[in-house]
Amino acid sequence: MFFRDIIGQNDVKEQLINSAKKGIIPHAQLFCGQEGVGKFPLALAYAQYLNCEDPSETDSCGKCPSCVKYNHLVHPDLHFVFPIVKKAAKKKKEVCDDYITEWREFIRQSCYFSFSRWLGYIDVENSQGLIYSKESEEIIRKLSLRIYEARYKVMIIWLPEKMHESCANKLLKIIEEPTDNTIFLLVSNMPDHIITTIQSRCQRINIHGVEEKEMARALEAACNITPEDAASVSRLANGSYLKAMETISLNEELKMFFNLFVRMMRASYARNIKEIKTASNEIAGVGRENQKGFLQYSQRLIREYFASNFNQAKMVYLTQDEAGFGMRFAPFINERNIIGFMNELALAEQHIEQNVNAKMVFFDLCLKITMLIKQ
Ligand SMILES: [Zn+2]
Repeated sequence: MFFRDIIGQNDVKEQLINSAKKGIIPHAQLFCGQEGVGKFPLALAYAQYLNCEDPSETDSCGKCPSCVKYNHLVHPDLHFVFPIVKKAAKKKKEVCDDYITEWREFIRQSCYFSFSRWLGYIDVENSQGLIYSKESEEIIRKLSLRIYEARYKVMIIWLPEKMHESCANKLLKIIEEPTDNTIFLLVSNMPDHIITTIQSRCQRINIHGVEEKEMARALEAACNITPEDAASVSRLANGSYLKAMETISLNEELKMFFNLFVRMMRASYARNIKEIKTASNEIAGVGRENQKGFLQYSQRLIREYFASNFNQAKMVYLTQDEAGFGMRFAPFINERNIIGFMNELALAEQHIEQNVNAKMVFFDLCLKITMLIKQ
């Protein structure tokens, strides 16, 4: 991880680099701030920088043996601790190392991530992730090993607030008096939930939200959106890059649903079998979760259009595109067919849920709509 890959946060980067250059490297540091501001990548980039054999003024070199191993997250003197869920399957999972493969894959996808996304990734969304008591033995064991090759042995603890109290208590001594050249980097969304005896042993670094301008620039590059959209999303994201990404993907999804809706309605209205077939195949190609989302979206839109007939001016819950299409389409939704529309869409949703062939479901739905739309 390089400092240059982290969005904004230039003052924190500078602060970390300057203190490293002066040789002021506290052995326990607590990176605090809300989710999605880049605390974890900052900690990782800092650890890489400290161990780089040929760092520049602003970043690690990326080429030395240490950097190469850091980039692959496989340096033998780099350790991770993070919340997990115990699994009693054939292959028991009870400490972080049992999840290390998943963890590395997960970080490689994006170094901006949330706790819930991690739990989703290891398929335990409905469980409580914890750093269990047993992990403390692992930590102490790993840190008692002789340093392999690095300048600093680094232990990154992501979300220490999720640490079981008995684990935290067992770590107090080693955090206070770590073995030679060991550095603890704790990365926390809720530092006040960490036991005070650990908090007081760490030097605290407060990480603020990502600056609006920096975030907008990053979004423009990463998501291919207009500067205006990037600016407004950044403003709403309140410093969290994760929140901004979520807003954008939600918008993208709605745009896709709207386009599919228009195609489905146009083909059905025209009674053009070839078009109907193309449209239903396209909807069938977007995946089951999206299909369900699309059908729910369509129900909402039909309801809004129907309601708008009673008061043309009040399409308040619609986007500009939706309202534009509604000007011509809404008059076709009336008291004779609204129930039929809602029933058919709900039925299609149920069939998708039951794994019925999607092409058939949507083709059939379009045929029903050709009848309904003329009523
Ligand atoms: Zn290097």
